[in-house]
Amino acid sequence: MNPAPVSTTAHARRLEGAPFATEIRDQVAADVTAYVAAHGYPPGLAVVVCGRSAPSMVYLERILKACAQVGIAGSLVDVPGDNPAEQARELAAAIERLNADPRVAGIIVQMPLPTGVGLRVVVDAIDPLKDIDGIHPLNAGLLRLGYEGFIPATAHAALEMIHRSGITLRGADAVVIGRSPVVGMPLAFMLTKEDATVTVCHSKTRDLAAKVRNADVVVVAAGQPGLVTGDMLKPGAVVIDVGINVVEGHIVGDVDFASAEAVASAITPVPGGVGPLTNALLLSHLMRAAQRQDQAKEYFEA
Ligand code: NDP
Repeated sequence: MNPAPVSTTAHARRLEGAPFATEIRDQVAADVTAYVAAHGYPPGLAVVVCGRSAPSMVYLERILKACAQVGIAGSLVDVPGDNPAEQARELAAAIERLNADPRVAGIIVQMPLPTGVGLRVVVDAIDPLKDIDGIHPLNAGLLRLGYEGFIPATAHAALEMIHRSGITLRGADAVVIGRSPVVGMPLAFMLTKEDATVTVCHSKTRDLAAKVRNADVVVVAAGQPGLVTGDMLKPGAVVIDVGINVVEGHIVGDVDFASAEAVASAITPVPGGVGPLTNALLLSHLMRAAQRQDQAKEYFEA
């Protein structure tokens, strides 16, 4: 018999990210204080930007502000270049400089990269110990094998939302919509590790509604506003909306919130759900990287 992880209710519980994000940030701030006391300087997070665009700058400024709030030394590293070949060379060089800088504990590279600059440039250059968003194959491989590495912050945020909200994954039927290497696939591996039975859907999936209707837990990371509607959901399902889309100047997720809220037992709003947790978790990954680099140093010095 399959255990039912959720119960049917008339109105969905809203899973807000802010309270959990505050808990995580408070812990990071305490860890930063201890780190500064031991080292005399704060751990550093470098945000590498290759070709600026207005929406990504808003996101990056939010990360830098969050760093400042907990005492992390956030810095923006602008990669120059007039063409893709030059940008790729400069990007690799910038990452290598940051790898060698002991004051930089973690590196993230703003996505998407400019047209013609492949993700492979980042993957080949970044030190896996500083790869706090989990894109290096070592970290991706550790996740795939079920070991501890760095996992992408967004995928981590979706899982953390489920955990901290007290939702049971063991035995649950879960559907993940989206199979990207940074969100959908890491989530599918994590949910499987948590004993959910996972179906991964994508743009070529036939009859998405039928897959969704079977699911106790639906995680949507497709970048398609209104993709999941209330009539597709099993009554009492848990809905985690990772999508961020701008529609007529407003930020919306991938789920039609009004219709889904009437059927689900719990649902994340957009904005205010997974997003705030993603930023807080990025900071906690940074702190963990700083601590692990200390341990690695001790190991080599022993
Ligand atoms: P990608 O564009 O890399 O991947 C989107 C995935 O969704 C693909 O696997 C694609 O399928 C699938 N998809 C697209 N359309 C459909 C459809 N109609 N039906 C089923 N599947 C579909 O996006 P990301 O994974 O990078 O991001 C996903 C979403 O999460 C975006 O909205 C992004 O803005 C958001 N995001 C949110 C963050 C947060 O903090 N909350 C942080 C990062 C991203 P296929 O593989 O076949 O193309």
